Amino acid sequence: MKKGYFGQWGGAFIPEVLHATFTEFNIAYEAARADSSFWQEYVDLMANYSCRPTPLTFAENLSDHLGGARIYIKREDLNHTGAHKANNVMGQGLLVKRMGKKRVIAETGAGQHGVATATMAARFGFDCTVYMGEEDVARQRPNVFWMEKLGATVVTVTDGSRTLKDAINEAFRDWVTSMDDTHYVMGTVCGPHPFPEMVAWFQSIIGIEVRKQIMEQHGKMPDRVYACVGGGSNAMGIFQGFLEDNDVELIGVEAGGKGIDTDQHASRMVGDRAAAGVAQGYKTMFLQDSDGQMLDTHSIAAGLDYVGVSPILADLGEQGRVRFEAATDVEVLEALTLAMRTEGIIPALESSHAFVQAIKEAPTMFRDQAIIINMSGRGDKDIFTIAHAFDDPSWKDFIIGLAEEYKTK
Ligand SMILES: *Cc1c(COP(=O)(O)O)cnc(C)c1O
Repeated sequence: MKKGYFGQWGGAFIPEVLHATFTEFNIAYEAARADSSFWQEYVDLMANYSCRPTPLTFAENLSDHLGGARIYIKREDLNHTGAHKANNVMGQGLLVKRMGKKRVIAETGAGQHGVATATMAARFGFDCTVYMGEEDVARQRPNVFWMEKLGATVVTVTDGSRTLKDAINEAFRDWVTSMDDTHYVMGTVCGPHPFPEMVAWFQSIIGIEVRKQIMEQHGKMPDRVYACVGGGSNAMGIFQGFLEDNDVELIGVEAGGKGIDTDQHASRMVGDRAAAGVAQGYKTMFLQDSDGQMLDTHSIAAGLDYVGVSPILADLGEQGRVRFEAATDVEVLEALTLAMRTEGIIPALESSHAFVQAIKEAPTMFRDQAIIINMSGRGDKDIFTIAHAFDDPSWKDFIIGLAEEYKTK
C-alpha cells in the first residue's frame, strides 16, 4: 500500500512549497520511530510529567447499578492538563527538540489543544503561536487566558467563518514562511501524512498500558472497548491495544448533537451528512454539502465538533473493525450525571459520549464479560462549559453577580 494511506483514505495533499519541510519531517519521524531510546525518553517524560501510566479503574458501583458487564475506565483525565492531548503534544515536543527547531505553531478550535501545546512549549522552551478563529477566542476565554499566561501568542483569525478551519488555513500560511525553524503541532490523528500515523503512535501508549492492566485486573481480554471520536486520537490510542484481537469489539462514539436526523451534529461515520473528500491535506469522510462545501457542525462537546475524521478510523470503519455509534447532547448530560453520582468521577463532555454507548450496552451483557471506557479527559476543568450545558440557574446567578462586581469596580 502507498505510504500514508489506510485503504483509500489518508495521503498527503500539500502545497508544493511545503514538500521540503514534509520530507525533513518524515525523515525525522521515521528515525525517531526506529530509535528505541526515543520511545523510552517519551515514556519517562510522561511518567514524570504527566502521571503515566494512568490507572484503569473498575467502576464497581456503575457496574452494579446497570447490572451486566463489568465496567472499567481508563483514566486519561489524570494526565497533566486533564486529557489525553498531553500524550500527543509532549511526543511532538521531543521530536521538535530532536529536529533542532525552536518554535511551534498550532491551530485550535475549542482551545484545549492550544493549551496543551502552550504547556509543552513552556516546558521545552519553544516559542509558541496559536491560531484561533475570532468566534472561538470570544467563546473560549478561559483557554485563551491560560495560553497567554503560559507564554504563547494567540493570533485571532478574522477571515471566513472565523472558526477552526480558518485558523488551520492561517497556521499553514505561517508554516510556509517559517518552516526552517518551526514545527506545526497537529492536534489529532488527521491531516497529511505522517501526522495521522505519528499522532496514533504517541497515543498508542494508552493501549499498551490498558492491555496489561485489564489482564492483571480481569484475567482476560475485554469484550468491548468504547471511545469518543472527534478527530480520533484518544480512540486510536486505546484501540491500538486490541486491533489484532478480533474478539475484542471496538466502538467509536461520535457527536450526535441534537440528533442524527437533524443538521446539528458532527457525525461523519454515522448518518448521511458526510462524504469522501480531500481537504486540509488528506482524504477522509467530511461533513459537506453536494458542492463540497464544509458544513457547520454542532456538538455539546467542543472537542468533537469537527468536520473530518481520522483516515485510519475511516478505514477501520469501512473494514468493519470499528463499529460507530452516535450519542446526543441530551444523552451525554444523563451519562455524565450517572458517572458523577455512582463513581465520583467527572468525565469531560467529550468522554461522556463513550459513556453513553457503554451504559446502553452493558446491561445486555453477562457479569463475567468486561468492557473498557476510555475517559479521554476530565470535566472539572471545563466547569464553564459543563455548567452552561446543564443550564444551572445558580451558576447563571454567580456569573451575573461576577459581571456586576466587575462593572461597579
Ligand atoms: C480534544 C478532545 C477529544 C477529541 O479528540 P480526539 O482526537 O478525537 O481524541 C476528546 N476528549 C477530550 C477530553 C478532548 O479534550
